[in-house]
Amino acid sequence: MTASSTPSEVQRCPLCQVEIESCPGRPDTVMFSQGTPGTRSKLWSRVCQFLKTTEQTTACINQDADRRGPQQLGDAFPDAPTIDLGAS
Ligand SMILES: [Zn+2]
Repeated sequence: MTASSTPSEVQRCPLCQVEIESCPGRPDTVMFSQGTPGTRSKLWSRVCQFLKTTEQTTACINQDADRRGPQQLGDAFPDAPTIDLGAS
């Protein structure tokens, strides 16, 4: 019942326990249960790539390489705090 200016579609991955919001003209946004929203490639790096059985990969909604795109730097690791290398 909410009015939205941009039609978006939210899908939930039953295996990864995340929601993926698709908006026309924008990259899909993955809502993690914790932390800041990320990308499909980030979700893949952290969760989906570890699914092994056909049953799992069939149920996962983030198995499409074309939709998630290439893995980005930093995808595979928790968001690291900014490291001050001692510039003084
Ligand atoms: Zn998934």
